Amino acid sequence: MANIETRSTCCYCGVGCGVLIESDGARITGVRGDPEHPANFGRLCGKGLSLAASAASDSGRALYPEMRLTREAARARVAWDDALDSVADGFARIIRRHGPDAVAFYVSGQLLTEDYYLFNKLAKGVVGTNNIDTNSRLCMSSAVTAYKQAFGADGPPTCYDDLEAAHCLLFAGSNMAYAHPVLFRRLEAARDARPDCRWIVIDPRCTDTAAMADLHLQIQPGTDVALFHGMLHHLIWEGLVNADYVAAHTEGFAELKRLVRDYPPKMAAEICGIRESDLVTAAEWFGRSPASLSLYSMGLNQSSHGTDKNLALINLHLATGQLGRPGAGPFSLTGQPNAMGGREVGGMATMLAAHRDIGNAEHRLDVARHWGVPVSRLSDQAGLPAVAMFEALRQGRVKAIWIACSNPAHSLPNLPLVREALACAELVVVQDAFAHTDTTAFADILLPAAGWGEKEGTVTNSERRISRVRAAVPPPGEARRDGWIVGEVARRLETLLYPGAASLFSHTDPDRVFDEHRALTVGRDLDIGGLDYALLDRTGPQQWPLPVGAATGLARRYTDGRFATANGRARFHAPSYLPPAENVSAHYPFRLLTGRLRDQWHGMSRTGRLPQLFAHSPEPALQMHPEDAERRGLAAGDLLRVSSKRGQLVLPLALSDEVMRGTLFAAMHWNGQFLNSGGVNEASQPAVDGQSFQPELKHAAVKVAKL
Ligand code: SF4
Repeated sequence: MANIETRSTCCYCGVGCGVLIESDGARITGVRGDPEHPANFGRLCGKGLSLAASAASDSGRALYPEMRLTREAARARVAWDDALDSVADGFARIIRRHGPDAVAFYVSGQLLTEDYYLFNKLAKGVVGTNNIDTNSRLCMSSAVTAYKQAFGADGPPTCYDDLEAAHCLLFAGSNMAYAHPVLFRRLEAARDARPDCRWIVIDPRCTDTAAMADLHLQIQPGTDVALFHGMLHHLIWEGLVNADYVAAHTEGFAELKRLVRDYPPKMAAEICGIRESDLVTAAEWFGRSPASLSLYSMGLNQSSHGTDKNLALINLHLATGQLGRPGAGPFSLTGQPNAMGGREVGGMATMLAAHRDIGNAEHRLDVARHWGVPVSRLSDQAGLPAVAMFEALRQGRVKAIWIACSNPAHSLPNLPLVREALACAELVVVQDAFAHTDTTAFADILLPAAGWGEKEGTVTNSERRISRVRAAVPPPGEARRDGWIVGEVARRLETLLYPGAASLFSHTDPDRVFDEHRALTVGRDLDIGGLDYALLDRTGPQQWPLPVGAATGLARRYTDGRFATANGRARFHAPSYLPPAENVSAHYPFRLLTGRLRDQWHGMSRTGRLPQLFAHSPEPALQMHPEDAERRGLAAGDLLRVSSKRGQLVLPLALSDEVMRGTLFAAMHWNGQFLNSGGVNEASQPAVDGQSFQPELKHAAVKVAKL
């Protein structure tokens, strides 16, 4: 058969690399980097290069709808109509009996924007609940909250071209060499071209990224706010604050200045466990550089003080005027491929479509008018964010949950509680491309979804760039695209809840859903009124905003020093340093840190099927500093039980001076398929940031015992 080439986007991380899929129309036969995509210019990392291999096999795929009539019974194959009717009947029954907030939707930053939009419309416009949250809550919500508080709007002000334009790079809580490899290659090339570019890495671990730094600040876990305040103290003391910028474009500096008086570099360095001279050097490099760019991800975000960490970092940029020009600004790196697209459509418990607010009556009216529903249908109460949603399920306040494209029985903190919640729910619906995840084991109804390379839509990457995702082959078996499934259930549910009313789901074609979405953005900070599929096909990926009349999207925001706040000024914030939620103790003396491996993705449902992706890290391991191991009489390879107050897992010991004494590291990916126990979230703890509701997945107090 003919070799067909389809232009699309990688489904893994937030870099959003363009790919060219080769297929014979029935099977994907190859994938290579798209030389014309502005994120990667043809480069791909190991995960991207393996896309063809992971997409080519039907093994492990969910191929048919399945259902079980009792919890004790095994699921059996059923017809699509029966499965869809059962989902709608089950949800309608519970909504009638207990109200709309008795049901919940847990979706994913892996969904395409159009599918995300439809899920959000179903939850908020048909059911009338804001109980729709997503695994993006575990990823970016602290960055989002800080952007909104500091700049008045979500989204980074920066773009990928800033990687090459920066003279000083501050990596904060990001092992970019593993988590965003193609962007890291761009940085390496930029450094080759300009060797005087300075790299500062802030990380409790000596990661591959830290190993390449000019200055590695190996801080005690969770002390970032003290570090940033100490740096700002030095900048103020040395007259390195850009007073003109602060006066013209910001507010709140006086209060912050008062606070950071209490963080002299010596004291801040002591809190962080680093040398004062290193803290001062970092402040000098950052403040004196012609252009300083900070790059950050889960090390800041996955924290019970994640918003404060983000805000304290943004303070450094505002105080020095390091933003709004090439190579300067705070740049949060998105973990998932479409965490940003999900926020654009409002697919979270704490927001409405197009960055609107649930608590704003005008915003609710905008959305209700757009959907053609009475405004009373839209709840004015925030829904349950991820961790609270599963706690509510366990308590019986939520009785039915529909989980799409995510594996919360692996990825949420405190897994014993998550499993208990899923086991006691009245109805668990799971929509997934894969049949055997930790979560599908709990599904009463399994809806088989199309996977990557089999569906159409868009995603938005870390630099606000919207790229097309295209279908190269049909889905296997009876799998269907996510949007089709949502539409089919939505129409049934509408008939049951509002008999005779016109449907909000008269179409679910991706291009028409995108048009509906972009119309909702007009006049908002992310306005893409001028962007449609035809323009994307003609000109390639585009950044938002791109309003009607614009030829291309906007590369950098706030270049004129005018921000999205009511008075146009950016806001400084003055959070005090607070330690992680769970401190170590005599019983639980180690800090367990978590993170990524280079070649694996999340719960390994895709990457775990490919032997070549195990070459870099073949086995699960718990990293411990050699001196800690020696003091406890432990040797490499010993099997250790790692326990927290919540649960335990078993891992073989690996000695490593990448971790500091008193800390341990385990990768987030390994699950029950590879361990006798569940993954690292057996032990992680569910404390959340009080503003963003993002859990502190990166830090738990644990003890170890040799088996
Ligand atoms: Fe895919 Fe991310 Fe690798 Fe690019 S860097 S190929 S988007 S996994």
